[in-house]
Amino acid sequence: MTATVHLVGAGPGDPGLLTVRAVELLGTADVVLYDRLIPPEALRHARADAELVYVGKQGGGPQMPQAEIERLLVSRARAGRRVVRLKGGDPFVFGRGGEEAEALAAAGVRFEVVPGVTAGVAASAYAGIPVTHRELASAVAFVTAHEDPDKPESALDWDALARFPGTLVFYMGIKNLSLIAERLIGAGRPGDQPAAVVARGTLPGQRTVSGTLAEIAERVAEAGVRPPAITLVGPVARLRETLEWLERRPLHGRVVAVTRARAQASGLAERLRALGAEVVETPAIRIEPLAVELPEPTHDLICFTSPNGVRLFFEALPGDARALAGSRIAAIGPGTAAQLHTHGIEADVVPERFVAEGLLEALADEPLEGRRVLVARAAEARDVLPDGLRERGAAVDVVALYETVAEPLGEDGAAALGRATHVTFTSSSTVRFLVEALDGAGLGEARVVSIGPVTSETLRSHGIEPDVEARRHDIDGLVEALVGDSP
Ligand code: SAH
Repeated sequence: MTATVHLVGAGPGDPGLLTVRAVELLGTADVVLYDRLIPPEALRHARADAELVYVGKQGGGPQMPQAEIERLLVSRARAGRRVVRLKGGDPFVFGRGGEEAEALAAAGVRFEVVPGVTAGVAASAYAGIPVTHRELASAVAFVTAHEDPDKPESALDWDALARFPGTLVFYMGIKNLSLIAERLIGAGRPGDQPAAVVARGTLPGQRTVSGTLAEIAERVAEAGVRPPAITLVGPVARLRETLEWLERRPLHGRVVAVTRARAQASGLAERLRALGAEVVETPAIRIEPLAVELPEPTHDLICFTSPNGVRLFFEALPGDARALAGSRIAAIGPGTAAQLHTHGIEADVVPERFVAEGLLEALADEPLEGRRVLVARAAEARDVLPDGLRERGAAVDVVALYETVAEPLGEDGAAALGRATHVTFTSSSTVRFLVEALDGAGLGEARVVSIGPVTSETLRSHGIEPDVEARRHDIDGLVEALVGDSP
């Protein structure tokens, strides 16, 4: 039976602007036909076995002919396959969605339309420009500037556009910008009217150039702005001076590489993205759990030195948290304490400095002579903690719950790292394994950000001088250090 085709908008680029419906349909589609300007992350919602067909421009070359796309839509649907036709922005706003729907209707194939957030509204909003405004614009026009304005058959009525009582939003107009401005001014639009060009709107590399209509083309050329971009003309463009928000975020324009294990990266990545950074995940390490037999946890004190250690300890623990009822619990830092909390344990001791030395200091008042202490940690950790505890007369058991192994960087990883303005190191093992993965290649111009003195020392021992060291040796401290490293 012929399946229904869904013409789906994917929004302008920020994966957060995909609609719930789009995500839902992507998750069930057998076939996804997609364009160039969709958020790359959108396809992650597709099933692993879905057929993904790229129908956009090949490099700078020609687009798959529209008739061919329409033929594909019809034939896949007739084969009973659930088709999502995924388009940038909104499918019916300069997306040829109308033509595709007509073709489907003509072929008798049922279709549904899922609107998307269109670039003209979204890129403007992300640039701090409301397209309408009670005092400044009571109408907005979406205009395609694709046509050559010099062509006699140009579909645009420049007189009407110049007179239009509201905001003009041009799509696809970057190449023709100076002609557009000239035509508008020639037809009577004031040359001193505010204008703005928003390129890569809603994406991490968003850039906005403002100026008057008369000067905007020159400014854009100077700034080297490249498509995709929209151009706004109208008094609302001035509001950006007060309403700009995205490009003002503290990490906007930074590309931050996160080298910690992928499974641990999301918390840091989220924090950085929320501050405006583009995050590239280039994990240098992976956590490999070790088969462990936990000693009966009858210890007076148990020390945890990482969130991973806590997680794997509880996986290995026969029974539940009650097994630890008789033990004092120490965590090396707040992340480890938070992980303990998820297992129903509040740490008794958390040091001010989140390193082994700090934990030893924090344990200064703890009676240790003749006490049994368990240190739950990684296989390759430093011995500062067990040695220090033994010096104070404790009987120390060390249990290695996991080892840290290399995660290959791969070509994509190397390319991503090459774009980074900052590379973050959250442990000595991230340093060691990344240096190994780089195989002699350096970190280029990127600023090197270290979580603390131990990691910095490891960096130096590999001939890398950290540019920034966090004052607080945890993720919050690292983020703070990055924000503080503003140019
Ligand atoms: N259907 C799409 C528009 C497709 S036409 C929509 O509704 O948004 C392609 C044009 O859209 C580009 O030339 C550019 O003008 C605009 N555009 C698409 N993505 C954009 C983005 N992230 N930032 C700025 N403009 C964008």
